[in-house]
Amino acid sequence: MAKFTLQEFRKQYPSDAACLDKIFKMRYGNITHCPHCKEETTFRRVTTRRCYQCRKCYEQFYPTAGTIFEKTRVPLSDWFYIIFLFSTTRNGVSAKEIERLLGVTYKCAFRMGHQIRKLFETIPQDKLKGFVEFDESWVGGSQSNSISRQVPPQKMVFGLVERLGSVRAFHVKNIKAESLIPLIQSHVDKQSWVYTDENSTYVQLEKLGFDKHQRIAHGRKEYVVRDISTNTIEGYFSQLKRMIKGTHIQVSEKYFQNYINESCFRYNLRHAPFQMFNVIVDRISEQGDSVE
Ligand SMILES: [Zn+2]
Repeated sequence: MAKFTLQEFRKQYPSDAACLDKIFKMRYGNITHCPHCKEETTFRRVTTRRCYQCRKCYEQFYPTAGTIFEKTRVPLSDWFYIIFLFSTTRNGVSAKEIERLLGVTYKCAFRMGHQIRKLFETIPQDKLKGFVEFDESWVGGSQSNSISRQVPPQKMVFGLVERLGSVRAFHVKNIKAESLIPLIQSHVDKQSWVYTDENSTYVQLEKLGFDKHQRIAHGRKEYVVRDISTNTIEGYFSQLKRMIKGTHIQVSEKYFQNYINESCFRYNLRHAPFQMFNVIVDRISEQGDSVE
């Protein structure tokens, strides 16, 4: 696949009109008949608004309705540029960076970042299967237990990954069975080989039907015994930690899952980084109000 460079991006999206055209095409496809008057027609872009008009009945269509761009005053070309940055960095884009690049307020930049992160939410269709590892990790914040008013405490993340496949991760309150077991049951196929550490919560997996369960004794400094390891999920956690620590420094409880979703999205597209921009942009239209 050809590299999707900044030059290529500029060629495809030189203006606001080009971005709006893209969104219109994504939402309406090669439309030949007006959804309103049902006549065979063509549409013209209205230059003063983000809309298209049927040449027969003059009905107007707003392709950004229901999408993250619905109410924004920031030019679409700026949005697309920030999405391009999200698709090219390893560790994400901070609100500070967006503020500096676009010359918008921090509040606006922060909001843009989180609107874009909404596009990273994935609703998985199938359960993970084959060889599946899961583990928990503390992420972000202050490591010490001392109560600091400046730095929020670390947050617990539970991650599940198919070896050589995709990852799913969730912010959990604790590592008790009541937090982890429902996630395991809804995301992992019981026929899988599952690999965990010695957390006592996992003892009950066999009883729940995960009878191909192997545990690694990190307490005894074992990390890889034959193929029994949780190195794949550890690899994902390092990536998540690098993103939080390197780019965002600290994240609030409210938005934490959004950052996790972003890192999963990036991990899952690790073999196709140049497709990432288009995959993100495709999601814009999936969010929109339904098109009659
Ligand atoms: Zn019409």
